[in-house]
Amino acid sequence: MDTIAQSLMQRLADVTATSDDFIPLHAPEFSGSEWAMVKDCLDTGWVSSVGSYVDRFEREVAELCGVAHGVAMVNGTAALQIALEVAGVKPGDEVILPTMTFIATANAIHHARAVPHFADSDSVTLGLDVDALEAHLERIAVRETRGLVNRETGARIFAIVPMHTFGHPTDMDKLNELASRYGIVIVEDAAEALGSRYKGQACGGLGHIAALSFNGNKIVTTGGGGAIVTNNSELAKRAKHLSTTAKVAHPWAFKHDEVGYNYRMPNINAALGCAQLEQLPDRVMRKRALAERYHASFADFDHGSIFREPAECESNYWLNTLILSNEAAENRDDLLDALNKSGFQCRPIWSLLHKQDVYKNCPRANLQAAEDLERRIINLPSSAILGTA
Ligand SMILES: *Cc1c(COP(=O)(O)O)cnc(C)c1O
Repeated sequence: MDTIAQSLMQRLADVTATSDDFIPLHAPEFSGSEWAMVKDCLDTGWVSSVGSYVDRFEREVAELCGVAHGVAMVNGTAALQIALEVAGVKPGDEVILPTMTFIATANAIHHARAVPHFADSDSVTLGLDVDALEAHLERIAVRETRGLVNRETGARIFAIVPMHTFGHPTDMDKLNELASRYGIVIVEDAAEALGSRYKGQACGGLGHIAALSFNGNKIVTTGGGGAIVTNNSELAKRAKHLSTTAKVAHPWAFKHDEVGYNYRMPNINAALGCAQLEQLPDRVMRKRALAERYHASFADFDHGSIFREPAECESNYWLNTLILSNEAAENRDDLLDALNKSGFQCRPIWSLLHKQDVYKNCPRANLQAAEDLERRIINLPSSAILGTA
């Protein structure tokens, strides 16, 4: 074990090439117009949920995702919940998602009063295994007039939520083809994938509607924040309405036509976001350069390999990923201890969601590939600053 840990630390030291004694997993960067734009909000008094930065942020986020509409939200979880609701998810429906994702994906489904239905992941993309999902649906689903139904639970299976793990795109052509054949809606969880491309098309613009996150640990941050992006103007309009307490537009009257939410992003956060978006192309470039350095440094490492973007994809490499060999994975926790003690902030992948107490009774497919990946994945320090030449 010692020699594996030492070899790992040597490579991390080479790649990160800094004298800092603590290297975070992912540090935010504020090197553009952040101060000026946030100050502008304070100077003008436009700090809350209406303001020119919100409008601008929504336009720019939509443009980056190659779609017509953006709706800014308080965080990615809220954005995903609203995306699911406006896409037509109803209480009691089942929504398919990978078990290998951050818990927010399942929480958003739960908040939309639907039931997470866990599917397996593919070791080539780290996203949903579409072939395995098709085999699973063949086995458990029947078509009825109300839609696709899980014959084991009697619930309607309404949507699939692919998640682009660590910025690497899911195989969306295959998934979209499967979904249209089964009549299922695709709601992308693109929280980790702003700036990533699948066959030239931006993540966030690959399904019917998508959710993004701008939490402090994401590639671009608004402090806390999220957004919905979609080409469908009706869905965008409804998302904005629902997230603004469902208030009917009127110069002074308070009329609300359904039970809405207070989920809109404040202008002060959007100002931070506008400044951050200006830096996205450069940030993606540096993160890709860092990923190349990891790849080169680990080329002769005998105990695992650096995960690389799938074919025909351009990943933002939000988090770099080491996939340990089976033997090295036996000592994963000791390796993590050693790395973190020596100042390299490294993390295991999230614990699989079907094993979390709150979701352990949810419907699920065979999840063998995800179980295998869970044991073997370590995320390595990935701040864009480390990729600066
Ligand atoms: C960050 C993240 C979210 C949620 O975003 P918040 O802004 O933290 O609510 C959802 N899904 C995935 C996969 C994420 O990584």
